[in-house]
Amino acid sequence: MTHDIVIVGGGGAGLRAAIAAAEESSNLSIAIVSKVYPMRSHTVSAEGGAAGVLREDDTLEFHAKDTIFGADFLADQDVVETFVKEAPGELVQLEHWGCPWSRDPDGKLSARPFGGMSVNRTLYAADKTGFHMLHALFQTSLKYENIVRYDECFVTSLLVDDGRVIGVTSLNLYTGKVEVVAGKAVIMCTGGGGRVFPFTTNASIKTGDGMAAAYRAGAALKDMEFVQYHPTGLPGTGILITEASRGEGGWLVNKHGHRYLEDYGLGPPSDTPVNRKMELGPRDILSRCHMQEHMKGNTFEGEYGHYVHLDLRHVGREVIDGKLPFVRELVRNYVGIDPVYEPIPVRPVVHYMMGGIHTDITGKTTLNGLYAAGETACVSMNGANRLGSNSLTELLVFGARSGRAAAQFVAGQQAPSASALEALAKDEQRRLDSNFMKKEGGTEEIAQIREEMQAAMEEGAGIYRDETRMKATCDKLSELRGRFANIKIVDKSEVFNTGITSALELDSLLHVAETVAHGALSRKESRGSHTRTDFPDRDDVNYLQHSMCYQTPDGPRVEYLPVTITRWQPEERKY
Ligand SMILES: Cc1cc2nc3c(=O)[nH]c(=O)nc-3n(C[C@H](O)[C@H](O)[C@H](O)COP(=O)(O)OP(=O)(O)OC[C@H]3O[C@@H](n4cnc5c(N)ncnc54)[C@H](O)[C@@H]3O)c2cc1C
Repeated sequence: MTHDIVIVGGGGAGLRAAIAAAEESSNLSIAIVSKVYPMRSHTVSAEGGAAGVLREDDTLEFHAKDTIFGADFLADQDVVETFVKEAPGELVQLEHWGCPWSRDPDGKLSARPFGGMSVNRTLYAADKTGFHMLHALFQTSLKYENIVRYDECFVTSLLVDDGRVIGVTSLNLYTGKVEVVAGKAVIMCTGGGGRVFPFTTNASIKTGDGMAAAYRAGAALKDMEFVQYHPTGLPGTGILITEASRGEGGWLVNKHGHRYLEDYGLGPPSDTPVNRKMELGPRDILSRCHMQEHMKGNTFEGEYGHYVHLDLRHVGREVIDGKLPFVRELVRNYVGIDPVYEPIPVRPVVHYMMGGIHTDITGKTTLNGLYAAGETACVSMNGANRLGSNSLTELLVFGARSGRAAAQFVAGQQAPSASALEALAKDEQRRLDSNFMKKEGGTEEIAQIREEMQAAMEEGAGIYRDETRMKATCDKLSELRGRFANIKIVDKSEVFNTGITSALELDSLLHVAETVAHGALSRKESRGSHTRTDFPDRDDVNYLQHSMCYQTPDGPRVEYLPVTITRWQPEERKY
């Protein structure tokens, strides 16, 4: 199976990249390899919306500044400027492809307030934005005959010949056979890896496979220590209650019925529908406030630990049914209460990874022939804390950029050498057989290692971090890596063998976890989502830099790369 461009991932970023490459030339053969049917990618579950400057009261300058502030100055400002400039065109384009943006009665695009955004700039399709976006992209991709798909094929490794990426190996989940999908360029669009933590809004397929494959092949993972907690997930399941519920006026209250955010410099509360401070503060700050309330004994205790209330009762049934119907549906089904009449129990949950495969502004990585886009990439627009609703737009802007860049790159490239492909594929088959498919013996349970890893990550790399606990987490992860070599795979069947996919996913998760923990240990400051109790201040002298994690036989090696500053000099981040 030989193509010009191989895209791994059929979510928002992968589909947008495929369309962009197909538009560059109808002569290019483009493959999308995805471990799930594209419409099941995590993008489908995005609720709140996608940000872009499309209203008269907004400017590109405001959007850039909000993003850079939100990022606690760790965003590359040239990237942010490009992002805000290209975002509006992408959002309009998406409507022409069929995404039904919600509209005001006068026919203009509706925009809702979102955390850290100084004006209403988040476009939405009710509270099923990701579903509609993914549908529009998927149906558009079907129009191009030069895009072919390999659905339910699990990519196991990148094939690298003499420093150049020449394709991937993929486990066909229907047949259990390992296949080579060769290409002159590969674009990784495999999404995030929130599953390294126990409580997350992320689908169970979000295991960081693409990050791990690129890391094993020698690429750098950048800014991995920055993990975003979303302040309002459901206890127990981790299901997200979208920020749009606060954008539409929801309140966070502690067990004394007090809107506690005013005690943390975010107040005073107001009863206006849009209260940009308070509940619309950025996610990192709101998650820390929750933990402070917990330490003060002001949170409720339930079956699944501490929680506070998200109160939507005053917002009213009409707004809830009109703009947040999915929130009502989720809360009724998963909590058994109706948010029109009762407050929703919520707690912070892991939601998004700011870090990922290091790329430049075109999506190019440091490995020749490898590109990346979407949550798996780190093009450096989210810095130390992403603003909600920027990432759906990021998929479009940088998905398209990476598709175009890869299309231009392959024009001057020779086809991969058949002998190199064959030799690399044989090596990979041997690795997979001995570690997974034909593995004999072994005593360690996959689920047990996964649970211990998740617990260690929450303990040492959660909302508040310190040296002792982070070191313990790093040690635990290397112990788990050792035990992973002795895993037990009982099921040897070939068709949809979930034992083997869970083992492959755990392998990825352990790599991702290690880069998060070591990145966090090396960064001796607090910035954005990375809060150290032993280094509570931001340190621009030493750490206005991206961390770059490389794999070595002794564990991750962390280096640093300066941040690009264009027009906004670092200042204290106040709301
Ligand atoms: C519940 C939820 C709500 C959100 N709401 C919003 C929102 O309102 N606004 C916003 O801006 N952002 C939101 N986000 C974040 C945003 O949705 C994601 O960051 C984004 O959709 C990721 O898109 P992606 O294309 O990078 O990856 P995904 O959509 O996760 O797609 C990854 C693709 O990679 C494939 N893949 C992965 N591993 C392999 C492998 N080994 N082999 C083959 N294929 C593989 C998968 O099959 C899938 O097709 C939300 C996230 C969540 C979890």
